[in-house]
Amino acid sequence: MSNKLLPQIAFLNGACCGCGACAAACPKGCVAMEPDAWGFPRPSVDAGACVGCGACERACPALGERAADGLERVLWARSRDEGELVRSSSGGVFGLLARRALAEGGLVAGAAWADGCGSVRHVVVEEESGLDSVMRSKYVQSSVGPEVYRAVQDALRSGRRVLFSGTACQVAGMRGYLGRLAGSELFLAVDVICHGVPSPELWRRWVEHVGAREGGAVTSVNMRGKEAGWLSFSERYECAAGEGGDGHTCSTVFNEDWYMRAFLANVSLRPSCFSCPAKRSSGSDVTLGDFWGVQAQQPEAFDDRGVSAVLANTPKGAAALEAVLPGFEWGESSLERVLPGNPCLTGSVRPYRDREAFMAALAGGASIPDMMRRWSFEPGLRQRVVSKAKGVAKRLLRRA
Ligand SMILES: Cc1cc2nc3c(=O)[nH]c(=O)nc-3n(C[C@H](O)[C@H](O)[C@H](O)COP(=O)(O)OP(=O)(O)OC[C@H]3O[C@@H](n4cnc5c(N)ncnc54)[C@H](O)[C@@H]3O)c2cc1C
Ligand code: SF4
Ligand code: SF4
Ligand code: SF4
Repeated sequence: MSNKLLPQIAFLNGACCGCGACAAACPKGCVAMEPDAWGFPRPSVDAGACVGCGACERACPALGERAADGLERVLWARSRDEGELVRSSSGGVFGLLARRALAEGGLVAGAAWADGCGSVRHVVVEEESGLDSVMRSKYVQSSVGPEVYRAVQDALRSGRRVLFSGTACQVAGMRGYLGRLAGSELFLAVDVICHGVPSPELWRRWVEHVGAREGGAVTSVNMRGKEAGWLSFSERYECAAGEGGDGHTCSTVFNEDWYMRAFLANVSLRPSCFSCPAKRSSGSDVTLGDFWGVQAQQPEAFDDRGVSAVLANTPKGAAALEAVLPGFEWGESSLERVLPGNPCLTGSVRPYRDREAFMAALAGGASIPDMMRRWSFEPGLRQRVVSKAKGVAKRLLRRA
């Protein structure tokens, strides 16, 4: 078959966000999601089996136009349940929405650690005991397999509630796959404000590196530990006992953890994240994020155990939030208050200046210690001087 007859999904290159909707939608099973050199999932089409039906293209969030998301209400919120708050990345809104969906006999789909902690995959949770696995942010691209798409579709068809959570492109992919079923009152889509997703291959090597450094394989990770507070969140790695050693936990504040510095420097993100096709147009009912900058915007809402920024995009999302609000300390907010600390809500980040060389080294098999020597992502002297000067200026202004 000539290239001309392949569906458009085969030619998206950097625009593909890896949501997996095309593979799930193909009636011939001729799209497989395969990892590229950075571990990002990409579709591979079996040209011989493709019948040109276009189902993959209709499901794809990187093709075609979608309506902009609406906005019913913006809130700040944090769970009244201290345990839930500390276990969550931000204010614990996801946990309460998910608990409600399960209590009503529904299912929840979200991102969980897989292969030990070597990768992240979407899973379906049907019992409260499984909920912890999909809580907390994992800063690695999560794969959404066809089995998750089908489980969501089957549940909705059989009259069960579904809460699907993920990045905006994953929500758009799920909605594209579901078609008209996405409009069901039983379907609640929750997206997270998304900075972008880092390379699964970088994460795999980083976890191996931490295991070797600590003398025992990493068995559990919390990328949003709150031991030192929400603002200074920590990377917490639990490691198994190595030869002659004990199992132990190591914890590093996020800006001292090399993997997190690389993430926040925008060097390890998927190419589509620099021109996101789904921000504020995923069709999600609720958008959740950290309310960074809440101290300045709404000081009365600040709590260093975590505060969420919550956007109800649809009447369905607003009703779902209303039902769980008694579980929160909360107040009204606005887009204007959320945006200054959270520009990723509406805009894509810019790539790190040396990103191509970094990604080439990763694809070429460079070790983590080699990459750490070459790229530290420490703020440069100029940046440190500028931020120190800004801090001094702010203190002087406050005194004035
Ligand atoms: C890759 C990524 C980037 C983010 N960037 C920002 C940002 O720039 N600004 C901001 O304010 N907030 C960002 N967030 C969202 C924030 O970290 C919290 O996830 C959000 O505030 C919800 O917190 P919570 O306390 O309500 O619940 P939590 O229990 O912390 O919620 C976790 C939710 O995140 C989902 N999730 C976790 N990891 C992944 C993943 N790898 N892929 C898809 N979904 C995942 C889970 O399915 C669940 O729905 C990001 C999250 C992720 C995963
Ligand atoms: S056009 Fe149809 S058969 Fe071909 S890959 Fe897409 S969904 Fe599959
Ligand atoms: S964006 Fe999603 S649906 Fe489109 S080609 Fe990529 S993986 Fe497939
Ligand atoms: S930035 Fe956009 S393309 Fe990248 S993971 Fe987030 S929602 Fe998807």
